[in-house]
Amino acid sequence: MKTIGIGLIGTGYMGKCHALAWTGVAATFGETLRPRLVHLAEVNADLAHTKATEFGFARSSGDWRALIADPEVDVVSVTTPNAFHADMAIAALQAGKHVWCEKPMATALADAARMRETARASGRIAVLGYNYIQNPTVRQIEALIAGGAIGTVNHIRIEMDEDFMADAEAPFNWKNEAASGYGALDDFAVHPLSLMTRFLSLPSEVLADMSRPVASRPLADGSRRAVETHDIANVLLRFPGGASGVLTANRAAWGRKGRIFVQIFGSAGTLHFDQERGNEFNLYLAKGDPATQGFRTVLLGPQHAPYDRFIPAPGHGLGFNDLKVIEAHELIRALNGDADARVIDFETGLAIEGCVHAMAKSHADGRWTPTGA
Ligand code: NAD
Repeated sequence: MKTIGIGLIGTGYMGKCHALAWTGVAATFGETLRPRLVHLAEVNADLAHTKATEFGFARSSGDWRALIADPEVDVVSVTTPNAFHADMAIAALQAGKHVWCEKPMATALADAARMRETARASGRIAVLGYNYIQNPTVRQIEALIAGGAIGTVNHIRIEMDEDFMADAEAPFNWKNEAASGYGALDDFAVHPLSLMTRFLSLPSEVLADMSRPVASRPLADGSRRAVETHDIANVLLRFPGGASGVLTANRAAWGRKGRIFVQIFGSAGTLHFDQERGNEFNLYLAKGDPATQGFRTVLLGPQHAPYDRFIPAPGHGLGFNDLKVIEAHELIRALNGDADARVIDFETGLAIEGCVHAMAKSHADGRWTPTGA
């Protein structure tokens, strides 16, 4: 049985998701290229050792460069705060490793472009953590659109809302620093954009407005620090084929926990789903007796691949970590040379970054702005 050596940098929220995905992917999908948990890196040696023991990695280091120098590491998971992605991903690629880097790609467009160039030059596989495209619901919606079920798509609206920044007294953290990027745009809007690549395309022009509902947040010493990012972004979109769209992102939306509400309107019907209820989608077809027309809700089941790989019973549901397992599987497919692996690579990732930076520019200039897509 062939194996691939895994290196994991960072063990917070996403680091644990990657560790669970690498642990579960072979059992779920029967991989013939089996992950081996080789090396874990954290900010210091003690934390790295503790997490390596918990997650089952063979060795650990308080210096991520030691992980990259490890000849037994074939793939590096980068799950650190945004500002580190470019340096870590580029160093890994230059050392001949494949990379699975969390979104957003980088905080500066020039850094994302360097990542893309380094990936091209290395010939290695380099993909980003856009897990929501892995939801079997999203695959089914794509198939319905491709099959013409709702006719020609003329409008897409996606709202992404969570409330982890709604409390004005929540402590200042790295997501409030300008070094992390723009805020709602690169933290959230990139996810709806990743979905748009599957449903239609990226937008070619954008008109954006951002706002900052909380001006300052408390520090550990009791003082307050001004928030440097925007937690809310509202964006109008124009797509190359003439369709229009709306993208809104809000990290300070009380009551919303993991909402990504997608509506896709076509000439013959409408599809909608919400990631908070990610095991179902809704379809309206504009045909038949108007007296009985209405949305119908379809629950996920084993007929919606790859749901069947997890559980044979319909309606029982997959969760967020399962999307990460599917993402790891698609990365392994890419490593095996499968041209149709369902991944967002650094090429598409850079195009997504182009949209985000165009949105920030539009906000600053107050006008429609081309994205380059
Ligand atoms: P986090 O703060 O929970 O975890 C970050 C981890 O990185 C911490 O354990 C920290 O100690 C470690 N770290 C920081 N600097 C390091 C260094 N120099 N060397 C080694 N380790 C270091 O953050 P998070 O919420 O897990 O976010 C991490 C990344 O994941 C971000 O880029 C974020 O945008 C992305 N993310 C993606 C999703 C998704 O749905 N795909 C969801 C949440 C976060």
